[in-house]
Amino acid sequence: MAAARDTAVQDLVVAGFGPSGIALAAAVEDHDDAAGGPPLAARYLERAADSAWQPNLVLPGTDIQHHFLRDFATPRDARSRFTFPHYLQQSGRFYPFTLMGGYVSRLEWSDYVQWAARQVRGTVEYHREVLGVEPVTGPDGRVRTARVTSRDPRDGSLHTVEGRNVALATGHEPYVPELLRPHLGERVFHASRLLPALAALSGTPLRSIAVVGAGQTAGEIVLHLAAQHPDAEIHSLVRHAGFRMYELGHFSNEVYFPDETDYFYGLEGEQRERALEQARATNYAAVDPDVSTALYQAAYQDRFTGRNRLHMHRRTEIASVEQEDGGPVRLATEEVFTGERGLVTADAVIVCTGYREPVLPRQLAAFVPYLRLDAQGRPQVTRAYRAETTGDCEVGIYLDGLTEWRHGIGSATSFSQMAAKADTVHRDLRARLSRPAAPVAA
Ligand SMILES: Cc1cc2nc3c(=O)[nH]c(=O)nc-3n(C[C@H](O)[C@H](O)[C@H](O)COP(=O)(O)OP(=O)(O)OC[C@H]3O[C@@H](n4cnc5c(N)ncnc54)[C@H](O)[C@@H]3O)c2cc1C
Repeated sequence: MAAARDTAVQDLVVAGFGPSGIALAAAVEDHDDAAGGPPLAARYLERAADSAWQPNLVLPGTDIQHHFLRDFATPRDARSRFTFPHYLQQSGRFYPFTLMGGYVSRLEWSDYVQWAARQVRGTVEYHREVLGVEPVTGPDGRVRTARVTSRDPRDGSLHTVEGRNVALATGHEPYVPELLRPHLGERVFHASRLLPALAALSGTPLRSIAVVGAGQTAGEIVLHLAAQHPDAEIHSLVRHAGFRMYELGHFSNEVYFPDETDYFYGLEGEQRERALEQARATNYAAVDPDVSTALYQAAYQDRFTGRNRLHMHRRTEIASVEQEDGGPVRLATEEVFTGERGLVTADAVIVCTGYREPVLPRQLAAFVPYLRLDAQGRPQVTRAYRAETTGDCEVGIYLDGLTEWRHGIGSATSFSQMAAKADTVHRDLRARLSRPAAPVAA
């Protein structure tokens, strides 16, 4: 199919209009508002129909994990029109909110994210899945722009737009262990598909549901299922001695401060990996105190009442998976230390094994000859999240929210540095745009 071509070359094309993309748009537009004059020519492309935040996991009763002032703009410029306080004031809930003790439900945060997306004046195109970013060379062989091709998932139509700079803000990808991958489908699915996948099973009796994993999402899903499916047996399978709690120390949580990114970025190879491993305890494979308490109370009440339908399988690994003709799934299990075997039969298996950062975003395949890659095939990135390119490439390619391995825990998947990260990218972008382009050789 021929692609519909947008002829105007943009200063910036952003792939993904979730939090990282919106934060960058906010930095761009705050600067435009303050400077006056023509705005930056920017195009924002989002695969989904809107910018809803983690839409398949916005469960009733869940709250956000970061302080609400770590929003799209406050840490960068508290006077910005994109701040959470501005959203509260516009929504008429400012005063009631202040009586809530800082509690923000995930539902409200998702509403704020969508509100912020609507404040963006630049062109945002939804239903645009970015497939690839290709180099466009001038007559002298230098790469002057990048052609971004996207597809409309509704009708498969292709669209292209060219940019002098491209930011990939496509987020981390759901991770499913190899053993479970061949079984993915109606009854076995990653948590990122939770609500639609459960809705698709609404005609199927769910007598037994397995939840694999021990992170915040797994804990919240166990609680959600316990409330929504009062007749189902719920099996929680975790490899550790039970759900662990995040490391909540004030000092260790300073890893989410922007100057920690400078520190982390300055570390080399193995030291950096060790530092990241230490920081992971503040965010991954653990639950917050509310969820830990609620899970323990639920399990206690379940035993106290003699109902015994919450099965907390501790120190348990899945050894093999069987499923016949799309029917219930049989999970053969093994105790981690004793090797004792067990069997869990489930009508649905919810895989809560987190997300992974792509080593090299697949959209950049055509750009590889112009990227400097490290020994593991990852793009080398500057402190400003820009991929280092060969001397004959003038296009700026930013990896926005895709470089936890290089910038640390605070600057990839967390809101904590959303505004600071956008500020860093934006400053670098403006500096590049203000430089005269290399003359075209005759
Ligand atoms: C359930 C859950 C709860 C969380 N809660 C918190 C929290 O409370 N606090 C916190 O700080 N962090 C939290 N996080 C971490 C989360 O990663 C960040 O909050 C934030 O969503 C990261 O934003 P992002 O834009 O980088 O990535 P994402 O949120 O993943 O957004 C990426 C966007 O890009 C789009 N996209 C993907 N591929 C393409 C493509 N090829 N073309 C076009 N568009 C594409 C997606 O549709 C999406 O809109 C949570 C994560 C999860 C899964």
